[in-house]
Amino acid sequence: MLPFGFDNTYARELPGFYVAWKPAAVPAPRLLFLNEALATELNLDAAALNGPDGAALFAGNVVPDGAEPIAQAYAGHQFGGFSPQLGDGRALLLGELIDRAGRRRDIAFKGSGRTPFSRGGDGKAAVGPMLREVLIGEAMHALGIPTTRALAVAATGESVYREQALPGAVLTRVAASHLRVGTFQFFAAQGDTARLHQLADYAIARHDPDLIGAPERHLALLRAVAARQATLIAQWMNVGFIHGVMNTDNMAISGESIDYGPCAFMEAYDPAAVFSSIDHGGRYAYANQPHIARWNLARFAETLLPLMADADDEAAVQRVVAQVMEVIDAFPALYATALRQGQRAKLGLFAATAADDDADSALPDDWLALLHTQSVDFTLAWRRLADAADGDGAALRALFAEPAALDAWLTRWQERCARDEAAGGPPAAERAARMRRTSPWIIPRNHRVEEALAAASDHDDLGPFERLLAAIRQPFDEAPALARYAEPAPAAVTACYRTF
Ligand code: AMP
Ligand code: MG
Ligand code: MG
Repeated sequence: MLPFGFDNTYARELPGFYVAWKPAAVPAPRLLFLNEALATELNLDAAALNGPDGAALFAGNVVPDGAEPIAQAYAGHQFGGFSPQLGDGRALLLGELIDRAGRRRDIAFKGSGRTPFSRGGDGKAAVGPMLREVLIGEAMHALGIPTTRALAVAATGESVYREQALPGAVLTRVAASHLRVGTFQFFAAQGDTARLHQLADYAIARHDPDLIGAPERHLALLRAVAARQATLIAQWMNVGFIHGVMNTDNMAISGESIDYGPCAFMEAYDPAAVFSSIDHGGRYAYANQPHIARWNLARFAETLLPLMADADDEAAVQRVVAQVMEVIDAFPALYATALRQGQRAKLGLFAATAADDDADSALPDDWLALLHTQSVDFTLAWRRLADAADGDGAALRALFAEPAALDAWLTRWQERCARDEAAGGPPAAERAARMRRTSPWIIPRNHRVEEALAAASDHDDLGPFERLLAAIRQPFDEAPALARYAEPAPAAVTACYRTF
């Protein structure tokens, strides 16, 4: 048996928070993907996993020693409406292990069969969406954005039925934890303050150990989660990522991006961009993401209130509500600071400069307005702006239908860069190089993702998936051989693109 070295604190410390359960047996396990770098990071024997034993394990047929598979309970607001009981309907937490850097990581299955939380669902997953989760997670990781990652995908040899029969698969996901806003909501909705207490202390021990035992630790936990979410969403926005389903059950307390369903990277810049076929009202549109994060944070805060004050003590309740409101009201500024910091690097501004320059949000805002008006590709525009920092800007101008409007902005930007250099910022070549390390050349473009998933799912051909994966793992390196992955989709394709 392959050794995993599990140490399962969730199963051990939180009885009543889950149901012990077994993955379903499947007919024909076959490994489609193994993340060897991640396996090594987790202290696992990648070579031993990359064979029939690994296939049986990652398909759920063989439960590794030390694993204690459980379906976690959680609730959640889905598109604004509250469901008091969601839970792992097609997922199982196998256990936790400590990685080489000393971090505790969850190992979980997705698509491993029905559980007591499955409601009407079949508990299964299809090859395409699981490989999509691999691609997006690896892209986020390569971009330096906190994310859950895929360790493996195994085909099951059975069909799952959506609108059509699709090949089935199980994904193995690695996460800092699977604690969600919805986990807290589950116990808050039941008025189970004792378990909420236990959960909050568990979350603190796991993600904010410096707060263990602190007198106002629940407020501090809220602040810590707010800070992580503000940074995360700012990072999403600065690479044009649209999560698609920011329900409270998909918001991790850890600050990692989690649950890649109908998500996508934007092509032509449009704040209203929505890709998810189920998001009819545009609730989770690109520009709404920071607002939704704040809304979700408020839902998290509500669950903590009973821990912070005795409900019968009206004065205490009023005091903690005011404290909590302060954190929620501070979120937009926290987010804006993180966003501006990322934008400064993308604009090539690195020196500490005069206050009015630092407060200058017109420069990025006007840039984005230009991209919007002229429907310019978000990723390539930022990338070619980096080239303009030590070149003539011709490649940047070529992206604009009406470059005259850009020229006026470029003049302002160049003056700003000159002031940055005078204030101790880098010279042009270094500025451009640093900008290229923050604005990727390659993102997982929707048409390339679809092409790769279709080949894998319809023709059992993993070649396009593997080549795309290799490309998105080096998003900042401009290798001519990878040009096809950097090109935007033809406009006609982008206009009607939908994820499911
Ligand atoms: P998601 O949209 O992936 O965040 O999932 C929302 C809820 O639906 C969670 O409770 C999932 O476990 C559940 N769910 C999603 N797909 C299935 C499925 N095929 N079978 C059972 N439950 C599912
Ligand atoms: Mg989910
Ligand atoms: Mg999902």
